[in-house]
Amino acid sequence: VARARVHMAGNDERTYIMVKPDGVQRGLVGQIIGRFEQRGYQLKGLKLMQPTEALLRQHYNELVTKAFFPRLLEYMLSGPVCAMVWEGKGVVATGRMMLGATNPQASAPGTIRGDYCIDVGKNICHGSDSVENAEREIGLWFSADELLSWTPHSRPWLYE
Ligand code: UDP
Repeated sequence: VARARVHMAGNDERTYIMVKPDGVQRGLVGQIIGRFEQRGYQLKGLKLMQPTEALLRQHYNELVTKAFFPRLLEYMLSGPVCAMVWEGKGVVATGRMMLGATNPQASAPGTIRGDYCIDVGKNICHGSDSVENAEREIGLWFSADELLSWTPHSRPWLYE
């Protein structure tokens, strides 16, 4: 039992993934969810919502002084987003790899941005860049009762 616990440690890392308004408008929500499901990550929370300016200013608190921030705000306010929490071993770093580079032109084919978009200001998705930021962002976008605890049947087939 103790050994099993050691092996489980770290498998509960969480990240905040968001399909941005262009991804929702372009009907890419299912494709993006599918990639995280296929990889073996576990869905812990999911909702379609219209973000407010106040929430976006908190979410992007490190970017509010940037020259591109007003356009980013306008973009993120332009329609609903799909907010998600995904859990699993290394999901923060792996999630970023799955998304691709911030600028889609630098994103390799096979990544989400590398397969579905072109411009940095319309890059269809967000993923937390550190475990610490992931927890901060999850706290901003979800209340505790919106995150579910459940046991996926495939877990023993995903983790050694
Ligand atoms: N962004 C932009 N122009 C830039 C840099 C960023 O429009 O020169 C937008 C882009 O949508 C990006 C978001 O601002 O995804 C947040 O930027 P960040 O540097 O945090 O990149 P990310 O973590 O999203 O890859």
